[in-house]
Amino acid sequence: MKQPASVTAIVHGTALLNRALVADAVILLRHGRIEEAGPAKRVRIPPGAQLIDATGCYVVPGFVDIHIHGSGGHRAEDGAPGMARHVVKAGTTWFLPTLMSNELGQMLVAIDHVRSCAGVVPGGATIGGIHLEGPFLNPKYGAQRPESNIEPDPESVRKLIERCGPTLKLVTIAPERKGALAAIRAFRAAGATVSIGHSDATEPEYLAGRAAGITHATHLFNAMPPRVWPTKQTYLGTKTVGIEELILADDDVSADIMADATAAHVQPTLLKLALKCKAVGKLSLITDAMVAAGLPCGEYTLADGQSLITTPAEDVARRADGALCGSVLSMCGALGNFIKHTAAPLETVLTMVSEAPARAVGIFDHKGSLDAGKDADVVLLDRELAVRQVLIAGKIEFTKSPDTP
Ligand SMILES: [Zn+2]
Repeated sequence: MKQPASVTAIVHGTALLNRALVADAVILLRHGRIEEAGPAKRVRIPPGAQLIDATGCYVVPGFVDIHIHGSGGHRAEDGAPGMARHVVKAGTTWFLPTLMSNELGQMLVAIDHVRSCAGVVPGGATIGGIHLEGPFLNPKYGAQRPESNIEPDPESVRKLIERCGPTLKLVTIAPERKGALAAIRAFRAAGATVSIGHSDATEPEYLAGRAAGITHATHLFNAMPPRVWPTKQTYLGTKTVGIEELILADDDVSADIMADATAAHVQPTLLKLALKCKAVGKLSLITDAMVAAGLPCGEYTLADGQSLITTPAEDVARRADGALCGSVLSMCGALGNFIKHTAAPLETVLTMVSEAPARAVGIFDHKGSLDAGKDADVVLLDRELAVRQVLIAGKIEFTKSPDTP
């Protein structure tokens, strides 16, 4: 006789279901998928099910990080499996190792690395594919070496697409660069989401980029033109529309944003503005974390050889000259920071670490919520929003030790 399939039931927790928090929920997991989820009075637990008691916990979809350069001493360029095993401890179950602008040959080697380890990582989060944050950025913005940001010539675009193959999931590009529109169309045709970022596109350039296939915006308010006083003192009666206003007013474009503890990347008012402008499911949190995330403060090296410095005063990373250069955040940390800065409801902010990023990169059909049929990537958070336990494809991959505060 065949053994009955093993079923796991997560019981007594408060679960995020259909964007709402439901008390005393039951989530049934079978064959690595969510079989059923709902209030305890509606879901029958099969006899013999293995029970996970989530009393006092929130039961939420695994976090999806679409922008992360490194973590726990590992870099996307050469240590993606190490990142996977580090980020899972803070609730990330699926992520895109993100390659920064670098000399093209170096980027191709890094692509080979991520491609070779994409997929399930034992004891870690799933490596979902590649995010190319460059090399077709505007060199005026961001902490990469300016000379690494090249024009999107067809040959470079073709090489990147070919080397990534099906692992290419997200590309950040500045649409004002010469040749960018053809590149955007090529990346779309290769199946990637294309995102505007590190850019000072004018309205016509923005609209041309959108028409070519841009559907997302990378770290809204960062690596975009700074606010400057008008040079002429004449009051002209109008405010200039820039890339941020174009993104905020565009209902059909999604965006991601950074929430660090000291709001060094994005001020609380701008976090609130983004939340007001973007519908639920259209605004994601990212970590943009660097190699130093989760390590003692000090000096570290980026993939392009630049130094990066972290201090106890903040959870961001800076170059030696003080320029912002990503963060040392976890997704769980970003979640808590965003709530602290905006007082937004927990159920809304939970969608920003699960549903919204999953939608942005086209994986919401199998990730990003606890709907029946989806992959059983589940996080248990305690009342302080610290990660208690993480399941990936129904398997427990991390449990916080009872001794850890
Ligand atoms: Zn960036």
